[in-house]
Amino acid sequence: MKNDIREVLFSTVEIKNRVSGLAQKLADDYVHKNLTIIGILNGSLIFLSDLIREIPFAVKIDTIKASTYVGASTFPKGKTEIIHSININVKDEHVLIVDDILDTGKTLSEIVQMITKYSPLSIKVCVLLNKMARREIAIAPDYCCFEIEDKFVVGYGLDFDNRYRNLPYIAVLREGIFTASKII
Ligand code: 5GP
Ligand code: MG
Repeated sequence: MKNDIREVLFSTVEIKNRVSGLAQKLADDYVHKNLTIIGILNGSLIFLSDLIREIPFAVKIDTIKASTYVGASTFPKGKTEIIHSININVKDEHVLIVDDILDTGKTLSEIVQMITKYSPLSIKVCVLLNKMARREIAIAPDYCCFEIEDKFVVGYGLDFDNRYRNLPYIAVLREGIFTASKII
């Protein structure tokens, strides 16, 4: 896997420090409140699991499975597909939606609209990465670990063609990896 990496953007230690800092902020902001955290799968898998274990009070957790890309592509397919939605009632809850990255903004704005219909007490967005350069819909994260430039990144939950999610840091792949998978 290491041979496929061109550049490491954020190391394991940097990520750990930022995630801990963010969890501390969430703990302060949501203390004495009913908090439901909704993770967007698959991308938020690692971020979500590290983040929730640093929150010192009991929170409810659920997930939504959404799909943005088709096969070995680095271009979103346009319409976000919700493969499965939440099963818990969020009516008297403060909801925090957790995703890997805010890119064009389509996925998270659709999900915020969808959750709003269930009338939670509040709804906020928390992402590992914010890629402002590609934003198409006006949405800003309420909580974010890192700002990034317009680069396609993998690792710490983020994939290319479903691979590299298990990379313990955030990186850019070598050009040859994309061209080897033909469809980009
Ligand atoms: P949006 O709807 O904001 O354009 O896209 C959000 C989804 O696209 C993210 O949840 C993520 O799955 C995917 N995505 C956007 N940028 C990247 C990237 O640089 N790397 C990877 N692996 N996925 C990305
Ligand atoms: Mg995603």
